[in-house]
Amino acid sequence: MTIPPLPPARPPSALHLRVPTRILDRLETATEQHLTDTITTARTPADLRNTTGTVTATITRAAQAAHRIGALIARTITPPPRDPELPNLIPDSPSPADTLRLLQDLAIPDAVTRLLDDAATRLEQTTAPAREHLERTARRVWGYALTTIHTASNRGATWYARAAGYDLRWHTREDERVCPVCSPLNGRTATPATAFTLPAGTRTWPGFTGLPPAHPRCRCSVTPVRPAPRPRTPSTTHGTTRPPGRRALLDLLRRRRRPATA
Ligand SMILES: [Zn+2]
Repeated sequence: MTIPPLPPARPPSALHLRVPTRILDRLETATEQHLTDTITTARTPADLRNTTGTVTATITRAAQAAHRIGALIARTITPPPRDPELPNLIPDSPSPADTLRLLQDLAIPDAVTRLLDDAATRLEQTTAPAREHLERTARRVWGYALTTIHTASNRGATWYARAAGYDLRWHTREDERVCPVCSPLNGRTATPATAFTLPAGTRTWPGFTGLPPAHPRCRCSVTPVRPAPRPRTPSTTHGTTRPPGRRALLDLLRRRRRPATA
């Protein structure tokens, strides 16, 4: 038996991210397998159009799971602030309403219908073997699904950062495949409210909303970081400035403590 060589050493931040992202990697592998099996078993253009419901359901389930996993990974990497005033008010995962908002933004049924309609039309017109065409279609649909999963997991991380009053840091995978769009963003921070802006002159992707993915098949992620001290501004409570998410939680707590007399 031969022992495979160890992978090359990675920078600390990538090592730090590697274990939690395995959960996401498993979701990606299972989703890719299911989509490929569904699409490549079609035989005719009508078969291919008939996979729309299954493909939509598969990608929707993956996005819902990725939203929760993204929040979980974020919480694992940067646990909630320890503050005697702040009991455990941050929920474990985004609410169903948060996930619904994400799904509305993603518009998965429309995208899948367009992709598969287009592929079925090409299959009607092609003289090449159907198998090749279906395998290419499966790869295109998987590319879309992967981008969707990454969008959902980063939205989960952003949900958590906002709830905990943290900022966000952009991470590329720090390997030789990182593209020129994402490379300058590695390590940059932003607040969940403002999110990230791409460097001037970057060719933008219509799907970019200030969070990774910056482009289709982008593998970048965001992690929560404790905010750097911000310039002091006049405040009503003890002259201190707290990040907005945390302050909102403390206000909520105070309102709860106050007897309901008004
Ligand atoms: Zn990227």
